Amino acid sequence: MARTFALEGPPAGWRRDLLADLNEEQRAVVTAKGGPMLVVAGAGSGKTRALTYRLAWLVERGADPGRILLMTFTNRAAQDMLRRVGALLHQDIRRIWGGTFHHIGNRLLRLYGTRVGVDPAFTIIDREDSSSLMRSCVMDLGLSHEKRNFPNKNVLVAISSLARNTMSSVENIVDDRYSDFTDKLPDIQRTLEAYTEKKRESQVLDFDDLLGKWLELLEDHSDVRNMLADRFENIMVDEYQDTTAIQGRIVDCLGAKHRNICVVGDDAQAIYSFRGATFANILHFQDRYPDAVLYKLETNYRSTPEILGLANDSIGHNRHRLEKHLRAVKEVGIMPALVPCEDHNQQARFIAEYVRYLLDHGKKPSDIAVLYRSHWHSMEIQLELQRATIPFQVRGGVRFFEQAHVKDLLAYLRIIHNPHDETAWNRVLPHIQGIGERLSQRVWNAICYHDNPLKSAVRDETVNVLPKRLRADFLALAKLLNKLAGMTVPGPILAKILKERYDNYVTVTFENARQRRDDLRGMIEFAEDYDTSETFLGDVTLATEFAGETALGEENADADHAVILSTVHQAKGLEWSVVFIPWLVEGRFPVEWSKNEVDEEEEERRIFHVAVTRGEKELYLLVPRLAHRRNKGIIRLEPSVFVRELSEHVYEPLLIESGGVRRHRDSRGRGRKESGCSCEDSADGELVYDYDA
Ligand code: ATP
Ligand code: MG
Repeated sequence: MARTFALEGPPAGWRRDLLADLNEEQRAVVTAKGGPMLVVAGAGSGKTRALTYRLAWLVERGADPGRILLMTFTNRAAQDMLRRVGALLHQDIRRIWGGTFHHIGNRLLRLYGTRVGVDPAFTIIDREDSSSLMRSCVMDLGLSHEKRNFPNKNVLVAISSLARNTMSSVENIVDDRYSDFTDKLPDIQRTLEAYTEKKRESQVLDFDDLLGKWLELLEDHSDVRNMLADRFENIMVDEYQDTTAIQGRIVDCLGAKHRNICVVGDDAQAIYSFRGATFANILHFQDRYPDAVLYKLETNYRSTPEILGLANDSIGHNRHRLEKHLRAVKEVGIMPALVPCEDHNQQARFIAEYVRYLLDHGKKPSDIAVLYRSHWHSMEIQLELQRATIPFQVRGGVRFFEQAHVKDLLAYLRIIHNPHDETAWNRVLPHIQGIGERLSQRVWNAICYHDNPLKSAVRDETVNVLPKRLRADFLALAKLLNKLAGMTVPGPILAKILKERYDNYVTVTFENARQRRDDLRGMIEFAEDYDTSETFLGDVTLATEFAGETALGEENADADHAVILSTVHQAKGLEWSVVFIPWLVEGRFPVEWSKNEVDEEEEERRIFHVAVTRGEKELYLLVPRLAHRRNKGIIRLEPSVFVRELSEHVYEPLLIESGGVRRHRDSRGRGRKESGCSCEDSADGELVYDYDA
């Protein structure tokens, strides 16, 4: 006989008091009757929580889950919220429409796309597919060979995407953001038109079409608009500050009938303008909805008053922002520490040893995050954590040395170091416009039997295996590599290659050329510490070898057991007990290119704000003092403006000293002695950390 097992659900008639988990301000949001609602509140004030509970509240009061639409920044965030709602209600809420804008657009176009010429069976192409489609348009139009320096497929895709997301013309985008290509505008426009046509012919939609076609459906077809506007009784958007113009418009169309639009955001955390997001959507919400009710959440549950104090002090330097007040409910804690380091090596060592210390004193790896401005800032930190056998996970997947542009530049050095390295040749040769896999192989076949393939590369018989139009460029490359082969020190070799060869390739190839160039400069600086290419390449290879795993082995590599290394951008909405922010020097954080533009500097400050406000209990701001440059000797780095402008009372210096002592104080000046570690008050009352202990 079959045995049965009953799952214990809540007793019949059970109802959880949702409001008990909320404060007064949050309750007002959760229980509001409806109409346009704008919740603007600082980090950690429970915006996401209020939105989640409002969903539960509405369903509990009888709202039809199938008529609620929730849009968030990642699908994972939506799933987390919906799971929470399910748990609060003990009810199946799978009919709620939740996900990113793209996710929802996809669903709706499958249903109603025929109206805008979209076959319901359409395929979605990812960025990579978009790029190859764009590439074939460039080829069809014959633009690649004749026009040197014509933007590469990825740049073209980015231009197309920005134009659509910001709802502005290609001309504006090129003028504003890609001014290197202004003279190519007519050809760029032709290419983008061909691209649109090709997508239509092959019945594919790219990511931007999911929004573009969706909006077209709403704007050009009043019957569909009315039907959808009727369907969605309640619309909710989290992280509204990072929505783009087109996403803002979509929300407005969908909400046109019931006008129950609840948007939640924090202008101080708007950090995606490089992708076309605009917090104008928040700033002008009340212009578009004069009857909108503005809600404020002014209690911060995430961070200690000390961390909050520092966050507020910093963001106060931005002019473009909405004034907000936040009070912390957490108890007085440890002052944020400003940690001056000798150089980047000491910075990495401090983080690794301090993390070890925290782990020995009861923290879990998953309580800790290192948040940086640019991916390359994590290089030495990754190596150092690896050496210290601390499990870590790099959020966003690709580790620094595995990125295409990093591997590209390294490939030149590999050829110089070992001219027999076929893979390196095959990576480098296609950087010459016109050389593909086939020609690259032909060159390799011509040189590989020689004792020194690099030397034989400059010979006539090698050069002549290539079509005439490519010879001069190839010879220039071969000569440069031969010249550099006389040098052993890796830093200057890489610098020279970047300047003379690879830099131009970066411009025409990558949509985020500035960021990539910044990565490469960082790597060159990293290489400055090495005397020989051999040791440098050895360490770098080692760094890629442990990619994807951790020192403690695979089983511990998941995020629950690992210290998280992440860019600030990818840490949005999340929180950790302890946060380290390295590289707080000018040119790194804020990044170099933001210096001359007020808007860009303010966006950098918002990124810093997001980083600081991820911290719950402890915050460490690291400022390396010196950088080593082979030719120029030692250079003094300037501390970041974000550190310099802080009021002195919002942090405490933490000095690294050999044989010294460490002391933490809370903001009331109470010392917190660390048990089992060499911690005492130092004579002068400063906070000192002995990292050799
Ligand atoms: P961000 O701006 O970073 O996205 P947020 O405003 O969305 O932050 P939440 O992530 O919702 O804030 O909340 C921050 C933390 O505070 C979470 O751990 C949440 O569970 C907790 N929290 C929020 N409201 C309350 C409350 N009323 N009581 C207890 N804890 C709360
Ligand atoms: Mg949130």
